[in-house]
Amino acid sequence: MPEQTTVLDALKAMLGAERVSIGSSDRELHSRDQSAHAAYLPDVVVWPESSDQVSRVAAYANEHRIPLTGWGMGSSLEGNPIPVCGGIVIDFGRMNRIVQIYTEDFQVRVQPGMLYKDMNQVLAKYGLFFAPDPGANASIGGMVANNAAGTRTVKYGATRDNVLALEVVLASGEILRTGSRSVKQSAGYDLTHLFIGSEGTLGLITEATLRLVPVPEHVSAAIASFPSTEAAAQAVFEIMGASLGPAALELVDTAAVVAINRAEHLDLVEAPHLFLEFHGASDTSLTDVLHMAQVICNETGCQTFKSGLGREARNHLWNARHRLAEILIRSHPSLAYVITDVAVPISKYPALVSGAQQALQDLSPMDTYIMGHAGDGNMHTMLFFADTPEQHALVEHFTDQLVEHAIRLGGTCTGEHGIGIGKRKYMQHEHGLAAVQMMQHIKGLLDPKGILNPGKILP
Ligand SMILES: Cc1cc2nc3c(=O)[nH]c(=O)nc-3n(C[C@H](O)[C@H](O)[C@H](O)COP(=O)(O)OP(=O)(O)OC[C@H]3O[C@@H](n4cnc5c(N)ncnc54)[C@H](O)[C@@H]3O)c2cc1C
Repeated sequence: MPEQTTVLDALKAMLGAERVSIGSSDRELHSRDQSAHAAYLPDVVVWPESSDQVSRVAAYANEHRIPLTGWGMGSSLEGNPIPVCGGIVIDFGRMNRIVQIYTEDFQVRVQPGMLYKDMNQVLAKYGLFFAPDPGANASIGGMVANNAAGTRTVKYGATRDNVLALEVVLASGEILRTGSRSVKQSAGYDLTHLFIGSEGTLGLITEATLRLVPVPEHVSAAIASFPSTEAAAQAVFEIMGASLGPAALELVDTAAVVAINRAEHLDLVEAPHLFLEFHGASDTSLTDVLHMAQVICNETGCQTFKSGLGREARNHLWNARHRLAEILIRSHPSLAYVITDVAVPISKYPALVSGAQQALQDLSPMDTYIMGHAGDGNMHTMLFFADTPEQHALVEHFTDQLVEHAIRLGGTCTGEHGIGIGKRKYMQHEHGLAAVQMMQHIKGLLDPKGILNPGKILP
């Protein structure tokens, strides 16, 4: 690797001095995400303003074998953007423009540093929105790279299902365009989806063409409480099995309800809950669907069912749900934490939840929570514990068992947060040796010197 001053001079010549920093606060800010994984300082942080600048930085890093890690908002939960080998962090915050809105086709072309909530505010003027909605105000580049999902995925799909085309800068600096604006695409290998979920290990996303959906005219939400988390999980399966098509179906256990009540001044019964939302063509169709949802909930032992929430109450509820992870982290300031992210086929969801519930009892009196985007089979547990080797070992045993259980049920170790650092050890178990070796071949082909976000995904 060249001397640091040589690297800095080269980067400043490419980007301008004000787009390159070795300041300690900038390096600190780009050393950790929102997970509990250890921080690593990058050597230098850069803020390119165009694909061409990204390309030049990549070509230089590749020539000199300097690690190069993409950065959106740093809101990942698996250490995905932590520059574990130092090198250059490439922050896309200044590439944050909407390039073009295609209102007639319900599409938008956008730079990677655009934040999805900000983008949706602009799109609202056109009656459109981008549906994937992780809890944090993530960047489009980070969402594409992690294949992020959220509360609305059960109806509208994850990020993967809403990307039509990409512009990607490869490790070599070559600029590649994948996909097209056609919603049907059958032309050759699907390179777009190869880069989605690759966590910046195969290329740097410099533009994305996204599918949008019309803002629904008729929306209705309901809150149902249950005698047990297992009963709530059973209701999830029954609702999905009845094809009611919820736009959101979230599970929140009693401990999480207590925390959300306190932090967000909600007045929920202290019991496991489902939060439901439906989007429909008319109020009448919504009334029918809500009635059917209530009947199903009642059959699975539902204790209270409150529907007909107005817009303000709905916004309050969903903001609180989006902030839940943050609320829990803030309410345990001195403890270490882990968030699990398994997902299973919907028919196995009750078994997943009841298995987790039982296993969590072994961790008592640790503070633990269950929540999740239940309608798509995703369940999170959050565990807060003293930062000691014994407690870490207990938690690791729990997460290993949980992942094993999810995979046995036909599921995955991660529904949305990605592999990052923490889940690399599950890759071979989940995919098998041949598939992991194929991924290594692909990585070797696209990034032969291994400069792009090294130390992630592959075991
Ligand atoms: C409170 C909270 C709630 C959350 N809820 C959810 C949720 O419901 N669902 C969910 O899926 N996630 C959730 N997350 C996790 C996180 O928000 C998502 O993973 C999100 O996609 C990360 O986006 P980011 O912009 O912060 O990306 P970063 O964390 O900065 O980066 C993510 C990954 O993408 C890479 N990267 C960034 N930009 C690019 C680029 N342009 N090209 C190539 N690679 C790039 C990075 O190297 C890294 O590997 C939550 C996080 C928090 C803190």
